[in-house]
Amino acid sequence: MLAIIGAMDEEIELLLGELQDREDLSFPGATLHRGVLDGVPVLLTRGGIGKVNAAMTTAWLLSQGASRVIFTGVAGGVHPELRVGDIVVSTDLVQHDVDVTALGYDRGTVPGEPPAWVADETLRALAREAAAEVEGVRVTEGRVASGDQFVASVGEVGRLWRDFGAACAEMEGAAVAQVCAKAGVPFVVIRSVSDTADHDAKVDYRTFMPLVARHAKQVVRGMLARLAAQA
Ligand code: SAH
Repeated sequence: MLAIIGAMDEEIELLLGELQDREDLSFPGATLHRGVLDGVPVLLTRGGIGKVNAAMTTAWLLSQGASRVIFTGVAGGVHPELRVGDIVVSTDLVQHDVDVTALGYDRGTVPGEPPAWVADETLRALAREAAAEVEGVRVTEGRVASGDQFVASVGEVGRLWRDFGAACAEMEGAAVAQVCAKAGVPFVVIRSVSDTADHDAKVDYRTFMPLVARHAKQVVRGMLARLAAQA
């Protein structure tokens, strides 16, 4: 079963409206919607903001038989060439706010875990193809940096670029990735750029988020069309 997760209503409502044969499943802290989207059986959910919500919801999705996971949402652009509306397809994901450097670990490394979680190549290829069909936006493949922090400063963007080579910053992807990796379930994160994580980030995010969330959604639907054709 394919699972699709977003953090916010704006990130999933356009898909939820199209879900056929919808059945709502309630769990502590999460509601999963089961149904058929563009001919593909899916589990769809709004996971909430931040890494803890994302991890919990992903675990619920896996418990209900999710065997592939796509995260769709918005992010702050970190790569200097990214502009609002552009799309990032994850290569790998890091938790940029983890700091156990005092004990000799690299910044971002969770002790006992890999330094980054690598997205599935097949899902990435599907996302790449689907993203290429979204008109007027640049598509970048790159590292997604997640942390429990809305990044809104040039200094912090510089740090994420320098320390991690991140393409974008958001608050959930690496948590989804970590849970999926532990279960051996393939995943990919697709983010459209709502802001460039600098001093204008707050205003840009509020202005553009609902609009650019559509771009990530278009990528998901392009992926579904390809999966339906393969089935
Ligand atoms: N729904 C609330 C809170 C949003 S928090 C509101 O709109 O006020 C920001 C969300 O967008 C998170 O889910 C995060 O993943 C993503 N995001 C977009 N730009 C970001 C940035 N510059 N830094 C971190 N996360 C960002």
